[in-house]
Amino acid sequence: MTRDDALALDAADPLAPLREQFELPPGVIYLDGNSLGVLPRATAARVAAVVQQEWGQGLIRSWNAAGWITLPQRVGDKIARLVGVGAGELVVADSTSVNLFKVLSAALNIVAADAPERRRIVSERSNFPTDLYIAESLARERGFELLLCDADQLPAHLDQRAAVLMLTHVNYRTGRMHDMAALSRAAHEAGALTVWDLAHSAGAVPLSLASDGADFAVGCGYKYLNGGPGAPAFVWAHPRHAERFWQPLAGWMGHAAPFEFTPGYRPAPGITRYLCGTPALLSLAALECGVDTVLAAGPLGGMAALRAKSLALTRLFAERVSATCPMLTMASPPLDAQRGSQVCFSHPELGYPVMQALIARGVIGDFRAPDILRFGFTPLYSRFVDAFDAAEHLREVLDTAEWRQPEFNQRHAVT
Ligand SMILES: *Cc1c(COP(=O)(O)O)cnc(C)c1O
Repeated sequence: MTRDDALALDAADPLAPLREQFELPPGVIYLDGNSLGVLPRATAARVAAVVQQEWGQGLIRSWNAAGWITLPQRVGDKIARLVGVGAGELVVADSTSVNLFKVLSAALNIVAADAPERRRIVSERSNFPTDLYIAESLARERGFELLLCDADQLPAHLDQRAAVLMLTHVNYRTGRMHDMAALSRAAHEAGALTVWDLAHSAGAVPLSLASDGADFAVGCGYKYLNGGPGAPAFVWAHPRHAERFWQPLAGWMGHAAPFEFTPGYRPAPGITRYLCGTPALLSLAALECGVDTVLAAGPLGGMAALRAKSLALTRLFAERVSATCPMLTMASPPLDAQRGSQVCFSHPELGYPVMQALIARGVIGDFRAPDILRFGFTPLYSRFVDAFDAAEHLREVLDTAEWRQPEFNQRHAVT
């Protein structure tokens, strides 16, 4: 593989025009779309229009006239297409952490009603910390036990004690992807429900939540969906569960008739009851632009085509780095079927300064404590030549010990 070979792959790539949808700073190879997606070209004008026309001129009338009041459902319907569920089954609301609290609480309510002897939430020790903290807090409050184990041990813990299996589909640190269908089947056979966090999956890998046995799911708007910093998240409940219980954050936007202003709570039908308070409209408008960039791949083969390119990109990068940087250990699964859209390498000491040196060269990935260099590939805008060049930069940083420079060894608050 030469740089010209990489350029030839880009020239032959039918998805290449999708990159034109984005505002990418010159001289930057951006490999952190799994943490904060890049800015779509449409977003600035759309947010400006919402501010200047809809808010500035329309004022309060825009809740009806501009359709603000139904935007959580409308953007939700677009995301539904990306995760393999039906229109009307998914809404945009709040943050991933808050939505996880809602669905995990609802799942525990269902189990408490149907099988009160089940007292365990089963999850993976290396799950993203906010997921574990929310589960820890709910378990404590509701008298459940949070059982954490390694990924390979999960099936062994799906037994008559398990109430809920709560997992992140693609691991944030290693990029390892669970077999959602197999684990959900095992959970259901054991009598447990499943809650899936799609933070590193939605917009990155094809999903079919309903047919793969998910009972509840949440996901993130600012990663592969390109919704912008702090974009609202989404929440889905299988239609057979959506109306079984109130979710605990019973705010007025989840009420059946919020503008009747009645003192008692009456939950809205379906997934709308998972809304809580007034949506962050400006962020929601920006999120819609981001989701549209992913839907734009539809005529070119959609998520399946994006997935094929993502695997080709991560394979190329993994092969180059493994061949040229022997001091790094690949921390992501080599098998395509087990890998999300990122490639990670570990080094016992140098992860942080090496990433800082790369960022100074314009190759932006990130570092995840204690030892992981993380590189996310977003097939909407990542090119084969980017993967090739990033691997070359990484080799040079290591070969020249550029990471030794003092400024690369000062820790920032966000890594
Ligand atoms: C990014 C991420 C989150 C983010 O949660 P917020 O509430 O938006 O801060 C949650 N879970 C996982 C697995 C993530 O990767």
